[in-house]
Amino acid sequence: MLGAMQDFELRVPRLLDHAAREHAHREIVTRWADGRESRTDWAGIASDARKLAQALERLGCKPGDRIATLAMNHGHHLAAWYGAIGMGGIIHTINPRLFDDQLAYIANHAEDRVLLYDRAFQPIVDRLRARWTSIEHYIVMDDDGAAGFRALVDAEDGDYAWVEGDERDPCMLCYTSGTTGNPKGVLYSHRSSVLHALAEIQPAVFDLDTRSVVLPVVPMFHAAAWGLPFAGAVVGVKFVFSAVNDAQVLCDLMNDEKVTHSAGVPTVWMAMFQHIDATGRAPAHLDLVTIGGSAAPRAMIERLMRMGVRVNHAWGMTETSPIGTMGARSPDWDDLSFEQQLDQVSKQGRVPFGVELRIVDDAGVVLPRDGVSAGRLEVRGPWVVKRYFQDDSGDCLDDEGWFDTGDVAVLHPDGTMQITDRSKDVIKSGGEWISSVELENVAVGCPGVAEAAAIGIAHPKWDERPLLVVVRAKGSEVTAAQIREHLAARVAKWWLPDEIVFVDDLPHTATGKLLKTALRAQFKDYSLP
Ligand code: ADP
Repeated sequence: MLGAMQDFELRVPRLLDHAAREHAHREIVTRWADGRESRTDWAGIASDARKLAQALERLGCKPGDRIATLAMNHGHHLAAWYGAIGMGGIIHTINPRLFDDQLAYIANHAEDRVLLYDRAFQPIVDRLRARWTSIEHYIVMDDDGAAGFRALVDAEDGDYAWVEGDERDPCMLCYTSGTTGNPKGVLYSHRSSVLHALAEIQPAVFDLDTRSVVLPVVPMFHAAAWGLPFAGAVVGVKFVFSAVNDAQVLCDLMNDEKVTHSAGVPTVWMAMFQHIDATGRAPAHLDLVTIGGSAAPRAMIERLMRMGVRVNHAWGMTETSPIGTMGARSPDWDDLSFEQQLDQVSKQGRVPFGVELRIVDDAGVVLPRDGVSAGRLEVRGPWVVKRYFQDDSGDCLDDEGWFDTGDVAVLHPDGTMQITDRSKDVIKSGGEWISSVELENVAVGCPGVAEAAAIGIAHPKWDERPLLVVVRAKGSEVTAAQIREHLAARVAKWWLPDEIVFVDDLPHTATGKLLKTALRAQFKDYSLP
């Protein structure tokens, strides 16, 4: 016997229909790359999405086809997501910061048929057009001319019914940035995306409602802008998109549009602080900032909290749609001291309903949630990857359905998760693990240090010992001895780096994370004193 309730497939276009019906005039603001600003609303996005779906069909696209974007955040990109998905297609957001070989590989591997791109990325298109074997149609998104997105869309009447189907159909394809080997595709389903969106609006996650004014600094090409374009439709938020990630532009937009919610990787807030220091102007209406993608340094969280902003520290990955854990407050939050609250936010938070976590040792034995044991972090749930896109090796799960994240974590008794490292970055010294992430976080708390990276250097006695590579802040002359003194007061003695060296800059991945593989290659012949 089945339950006797209505079948309502959890399909992404329903999110947009809801927003267009219930929050029709809630604004969607775009600040374009050339400085122009434009405004539409959820009804306008829905209208553009339907017209784009018609246009894509006219170009010969069929359900299941991959429609790629190479674009920053803006209203047309939002309409493109919903339009491509609404015609039964799969929106594939390509990260323009990848290297040419990766860009060539990804579009060919995905077999993209259409590419919607920003003018700013014309040089990439010119370079790679001959290498892309499947793309038949190129459409410029931020061009009002005859060949651009606007003209394409305005040629249609918008009288269009979304393609219906199973909630398990695919709707979106995101590739991991691939710090090792080729990037891997994660194929989200309508169901996984809708469930993820419903989870995201919760107070303990993004805390969204119709009063929220959201500026996602996280790009729409990075893990689906953390799912915000879908979650925003659930409650009809006002979106403010910026096609440029300049701190001044972002800060002005945040003030002009009264932005309450923002989200981005730590480097975004680093740039924002420099802007605030230089101009004395800070975003005045910010209520909740979500930081994720890499560990948020304690000093960064502290500064935001002292500005009166709530900080949500999030952990996740492309493979988890990407929400895994968020900085859910404990029941006794209001009774905690500021320092205790900081301690709590510095960890990566707890799971929302739908995500399950565990840690295991190298033999696969499940470790306790005791706040001490560190192990490989495994995860499962309805918005966690099962199999990489077009990967012949089958499911990427163990027998019980757990996905190994490649991260090393500690679980606390109340379920709070703390990332201690990536399994390949952890420094193995004399059989014990030193957390490179923690060394880096403590080091950037030292005045004069702009950025720091810790890597293991081969050592005859200890196997590996830490080397700390530091970028000084502008104008600073901080010395190795001063940094060592700062560290010595905060980490175990045997964790102290054997050597501290200074560089002008550190290598980063396309999503702004430290590229440890490149750094290790750079220091591969380095020998410790
Ligand atoms: P990539 O592996 O291509 O960088 P993702 O953007 O999906 O792709 O990155 C996921 C990884 O980022 C996680 O596995 C984890 O190592 C790291 N990460 C994400 N959020 C945090 C966080 N809050 N603290 C520490 N590490 C994080």
